[in-house]
Amino acid sequence: MSARLLVVEDEPLINQAVTDRLRAEGYAVRQAFTGPDAVAAAQEELPDAVILDLMLPGFDGIEVCRRVQSQRPVPVLMLTARDDESDILVGLGVGADDYLTKPFRMRELVARVQALLRRVERAEVLARRDSPVLSVGSLSVDPARRRVVVDGREVHLTPTEFDLLTALAAEPGTVLTREKLLLDVWGWADASGTRTVDSHVKALRAKLGGHRVRTVHGVGYALESPDPRP
Ligand code: CA
Repeated sequence: MSARLLVVEDEPLINQAVTDRLRAEGYAVRQAFTGPDAVAAAQEELPDAVILDLMLPGFDGIEVCRRVQSQRPVPVLMLTARDDESDILVGLGVGADDYLTKPFRMRELVARVQALLRRVERAEVLARRDSPVLSVGSLSVDPARRRVVVDGREVHLTPTEFDLLTALAAEPGTVLTREKLLLDVWGWADASGTRTVDSHVKALRAKLGGHRVRTVHGVGYALESPDPRP
C-alpha cells in the first residue's frame, strides 16, 4: 500500500505542484491550505508523513506540528523561507524531522520525503528487534523504547535528536563526519545539508550538556565517553 501524505501549503500553485509530483511518485496525497485545515485533515487521514509550510493562515506550521504531534507521532518535513529559520526551529525543538528551504527542486523534496519514510520504517524495525541499550558513561540510550537517561533522569528528545544521539552513541569517542551523520540519520547525502547536522547537534548539546558532544572543527562530532582508554 502506498504511503499517505498530507501537503500543507497556503500558496495554491506550490501546493498543487508538490501534490502533483508526489502523486506521480505513487503516494496518496491529501491537501490542506490553512493551519486549522491541516490539523483536521491529519485527524481524518492519519498520514504517514506531513509536508508542512511554516507560514500559514489561521495558525502557523509550528502550531500545526504541536497539535498533530500531540495526537500521534508523525514525521514532518517543514518548508521554510530561509536557511536560518530552520536553525531557529531546530533550537526550539518544534518536532519537525527535517527542513527544506524554499525555493526547492521537486526532486529534492521527493528525496527528502522518501528518506523520512525510510527513517520511520527503520525506527520501527529497531523497536521490534529490541536492540540493546547503549551506555556511554552516565548516559544511556534505549533504541527500542526510544528513551534517553542522563545522570539518572530522563531527557526528552525530538525524533531527530534521538536518532542523531543513537548514531553517536553507537560509536562513542569516535569522530563521525557530518556527511556520515547526514546519511545515517537523515538518509540523504547532499553536503549542503551539513548545517542541518550542526543545528541538531547544538540542540542536543543544550539538552545533554555541552561537554558530552565534542566538535572536531571541519570534520564532525564525537560523543565523549568519560574515561577514554589510553
Ligand atoms: Ca506560506
